[in-house]
Amino acid sequence: MDDQTQPSLRARTVLAQALGAGDPTTAALVPPIHMSATYLRDPDNGYSCGHVYGHTDNPSVQQAEAVLAALEGAEAAMMFTSGMSAATAVFLALDEPIHIVASQVMYWGFRAWLRGIGKFGHTVTFVDTSDLQAVHDAVRPGETGMVWIETPSNPLWTITDIAAVSEIAHAAGAILCVDSTVATPIFTQPIAHGADIVVHSATKYLNGHSDIVAGALATAHVDEFWIRIQNARAQVGAVLGPFEAWLLMRGMRTLDLRVRAQAATAACLAEVLSGHPRVSSVLYPGLPSHPGHDIAGRQMSGGFGGMLSIRLKGGLDEAVAVAAAVRVWRRATSLGGAESLIEHRASIEGAGTPCPQDLLRLSAGIEHRDDLMFDLIRALSRAC
Ligand code: PLP
Repeated sequence: MDDQTQPSLRARTVLAQALGAGDPTTAALVPPIHMSATYLRDPDNGYSCGHVYGHTDNPSVQQAEAVLAALEGAEAAMMFTSGMSAATAVFLALDEPIHIVASQVMYWGFRAWLRGIGKFGHTVTFVDTSDLQAVHDAVRPGETGMVWIETPSNPLWTITDIAAVSEIAHAAGAILCVDSTVATPIFTQPIAHGADIVVHSATKYLNGHSDIVAGALATAHVDEFWIRIQNARAQVGAVLGPFEAWLLMRGMRTLDLRVRAQAATAACLAEVLSGHPRVSSVLYPGLPSHPGHDIAGRQMSGGFGGMLSIRLKGGLDEAVAVAAAVRVWRRATSLGGAESLIEHRASIEGAGTPCPQDLLRLSAGIEHRDDLMFDLIRALSRAC
């Protein structure tokens, strides 16, 4: 076998070894945390070490970025202080007013921020991006500079066809940004489907332990726009802190194992809950009844993710009562951590949300599936 070329390494291998990151000085297997806020300058006034000041970059952050870039099949990645600071940095890098087409259903915090984009001179049209005709009709050639989609989209788990939307965007001269937080690079690599920039709330699956807030961007091309995003991050000091970057690297080592287990649990919950008498519908792209199932099957490989939502026949009151009755599931916002979370979503999102009042959002964790199932079924029977 020695004379055979090793095929390119799978994501699980890349992650487990964090691309071989260690410490060349001490030969430590695990890399140190680079806490220094500043770096020594050479006598000739240069910075031959390549680092100047912690406001702009950090070696621990760069290690995490290299791992994410490898996973996404990206030319480069950048880590930020949060998913929101990653997403908004893309807009800080725009140098002229543009028109943006964005998914109607997406993480509510970013949708709320985008709604106010007019104060920066940009305009935005929200559309159902799972409807390609609607995207086509909303895009204005020569005027639309960006299409922003989230798939699966939070909290209805709508699926948008990345390849088809990228064709529409590119034909109009726009770039395509994909928030792939829920899909994770294990199940979808948006760049392979035509995306220009991939966005993650690394707070979620990438880290996976609910103990840091972080964000990430990955790019298909290190072009002028990417450099402008880099400059924007440096100017406002939105680079991820070294300790968070180190925790993120540690979390990512088990990403592949975690998300596959979480997706298997979510699929099982979706199937069982679909037949429950108190549940009016289950929203999960892995169910054949989901409108985006076929597209998800094409662009998600290996699983449909760990997020699902259920709608209760008894409406708002029953949804809140079920969330109150669980004992194993934890009642909290966020997603993608080791522990399973349940949340009445509409009350978090507030007025104008497309999220129905009878909906509970479920983030499947890595607990034993039977414990989660038993707890939920018991809560459903207690609450009615
Ligand atoms: N994108 C998605 C899909 C999210 O769910 C979230 C947060 O919930 C964000 C972005 C924002 O990320 P952060 O909370 O890390 O700022």
